[in-house]
Amino acid sequence: MLSDSKILEIKQLLTQQKRIVITSHTNPDGDAIGSSLAMYHYLKKLGNDVQMLVPNSFPDFYSWLPDTDKIVIYDKQSKYAQKLLREADIIFSLDYNALHRLGSLHEIVRATTCTRILIDHHIDPETESFNYCYSTTDTSSTGELVYDFITMLGHEDIIDKKTGEAIYTGIVTDTGSFSFSCNRPNTYIITSKLVSLGVDAQKIHKLIYDTFSENRLRLLGHAISNRMIVWKELHTALIYLNKSDLANFNYQVGDTEGMVNYPLSMNDVNMSLLITEKDNLLRLSFRSKGNFSVNDLSRAHFNGGGHKNAAGGKSTESIDELIDRLKSILQDYKEDLNYTITL
Ligand code: 5GP
Ligand code: MN
Repeated sequence: MLSDSKILEIKQLLTQQKRIVITSHTNPDGDAIGSSLAMYHYLKKLGNDVQMLVPNSFPDFYSWLPDTDKIVIYDKQSKYAQKLLREADIIFSLDYNALHRLGSLHEIVRATTCTRILIDHHIDPETESFNYCYSTTDTSSTGELVYDFITMLGHEDIIDKKTGEAIYTGIVTDTGSFSFSCNRPNTYIITSKLVSLGVDAQKIHKLIYDTFSENRLRLLGHAISNRMIVWKELHTALIYLNKSDLANFNYQVGDTEGMVNYPLSMNDVNMSLLITEKDNLLRLSFRSKGNFSVNDLSRAHFNGGGHKNAAGGKSTESIDELIDRLKSILQDYKEDLNYTITL
């Protein structure tokens, strides 16, 4: 958290026409894109020269958000991105807790010597890498934190509809449409203020969630019918998709987003996992409901982390090896996974 004197320092920094680069994590999600755009609109209003930068592509279903076309993608424009970082006075780090989450951008950002400001809601922020840390795990999303950050700097009144839409996108996607990480009043207080600004929650939901291609919906059907394993005794279910599965359905970035939630919708399943084979690496996506911490599981065994109920990870094993190892690891978590959610 930030002391009053730090808040004042940041406020002074941000009103001096600085060159600012806003960065977010690899495989950017709705909160990464939404919080970056919200910060972008805000910092530009303060008169700064602002750029947004992410390591790799983001799903097309966020491109309706104004100014997504201005987001620099490092994998596609690496020379330009390096120039921006070299010339930056300030780097914002949004929606990630440690620089290694920048993947291909990691080393370049770490080598910079300018002021770094973190705004994030993940566990265990790498505080030593930042000059200022606005970090808490008690917040639905980085979008919500951006709203609080702007308010803390005394600028709540300059949050406009466009900024609000970006913040709302962060909140709605990181809470699974208000189905998890959504038990704190502040989330709804801010949401209510955003709706008052004219943010159309109904339309935004449609723009994000009702935009499947036929291939994407059929891939989901294939995944659930042919690629899902349920371990009843472990209260766990998983979906695995290999390269050919993805190629057969003409996979586009974002096509597997949200898929990990389907196994979790089964009664008695407390943890779900999605395994996708991409670029000779397995990407893992974990979700849980209730007390089981997928953050702890992924940190301990799968090279990743995240939040208690939503985490990512990676592996260089084959899909079969990974599934075998997972089953054996979960024997040690059998008791932790065995619970019923009651009110
Ligand atoms: P997802 O499953 O949607 O990719 O990620 C779920 C959550 O875990 C997100 O908040 C994301 O930022 C975080 N996350 C995803 N992959 C990793 C990882 O490799 N390391 C860490 N520390 N967090 C991750
Ligand atoms: Mn987030």
